[in-house]
Amino acid sequence: MRGVVMHAPGDVRVEERGDPAILEPTDALIRVSATTICGSDLWPYRGVEEVHDAPMGHEYVGVVEEVGADVRTVKVGDFVVGSFWASDNTCEICRAGYQSHCVRRVPMGSLGTQAPLARVPLADGTLVATPGMPDEDLIPSLLAASDVLGTGWFAAEAAGAGPGRTVVVVGDGAVGLLAILAAGRLGAQRVIAMSRHADRRALARTFGATDVVGERGDEGVARVKELTDGLGAPCVVEAVGTQESMMQAIRSTRPGGHVGYVGVGHGVSLPGMELFFSGVHLHGGPAPVRRFLPDLIRLIWDREIDPGTVFDLTLPLERAAEGYRAMDERRAVKVLLTV
Ligand SMILES: [Zn+2]
Repeated sequence: MRGVVMHAPGDVRVEERGDPAILEPTDALIRVSATTICGSDLWPYRGVEEVHDAPMGHEYVGVVEEVGADVRTVKVGDFVVGSFWASDNTCEICRAGYQSHCVRRVPMGSLGTQAPLARVPLADGTLVATPGMPDEDLIPSLLAASDVLGTGWFAAEAAGAGPGRTVVVVGDGAVGLLAILAAGRLGAQRVIAMSRHADRRALARTFGATDVVGERGDEGVARVKELTDGLGAPCVVEAVGTQESMMQAIRSTRPGGHVGYVGVGHGVSLPGMELFFSGVHLHGGPAPVRRFLPDLIRLIWDREIDPGTVFDLTLPLERAAEGYRAMDERRAVKVLLTV
C-alpha cells in the first residue's frame, strides 16, 4: 500500500510502505475510510522534534478487515473509531479512565494511519464500533472523535468545565475549537475563546464561544480578569503547548481554579514560586480519548453535535504533502485525507 512518510522536516511523501498484517492475536486490521493530519504532526514537520523516515498519522476511522484469534468485541465489517493510543482498556490505569497511559499502550503514530490500511493493536480495548455503517456526512465528525474532539473534551473536563461555569480556552486550533464545543455541552455558561485570527474567531463562535479575546500575554490575562470580576476564570483550557500559552493559561486562572492542558509542551518550564502562590490545579497530558469515545460516538450518531465542521480542507491521501503545507502555514485548521 501507499502511505505517508515524513523523511525529514518539511519533506512529506506518499510512497510504498508495505501492507500491514495481523501480528498479535489481539490485533485488528482496518481499512481506513478517512484520516487526518494532527497539529502534533507539525512539530516534526517544523523540525522542533526529530524525524527520520517516519510513517505518519494516528487518527483514523474505518472498517474492520480482519481480526486476530483473540479479538471479541469487534468483528469484520464493523465501522470503528479508535484513539491515538492503543490500550487494553482493562488494566488498572485504563479502568481509572486513563487509557492514554495504559500499561500496555502502543502509540498509533508509530504504525502510521495516514494510509489505506492500519494495524490496530489491542483491538478489543482500543476500537469502538458505531451502531451501523455511518452516512457519509457523519465520517468527518467520527474522525474528529478519534483525537481532536476527544482531546478537547478531556481538556474541558480537566479544566473543571461544568454547569454555570466560565471557561477560557487558550488556543484556536482544532483542539481548542472543540474544547469550546465540549465546554458548552458540559454546561458552561460562558466560554471565552482566546484568538487573534478573524476566521478562527468566527469559527469559535460557531462552536459556542460567548466572548472572544484577541489580546495575548499579560494583556490577554488582564482582559480575562476584566471579564471575570478581576479574579480570573475557574476553568482554563490550554491547547497550544508553548511557554507563552501555558503561562497565559495559568495566569488567567483564579486561585482554586483548574487548568486542563493538552497542547504538547515544547520548551515549557514552569516557575515554581509563581506556581506555589497561584493555588491553581494543573491536569492534562495526552488525552485518554478512549474514555470518552462511546459517549462521543452516540452524540455524533444522534446528530447532537457536529464537530466535523472543524475540517476546512479535504484532500485525497496522495496529496498529503499539500495538506501538511496548508496546516503549517495556518491556511487550514484541520485537513481531512480521504483514502
Ligand atoms: Zn490498560
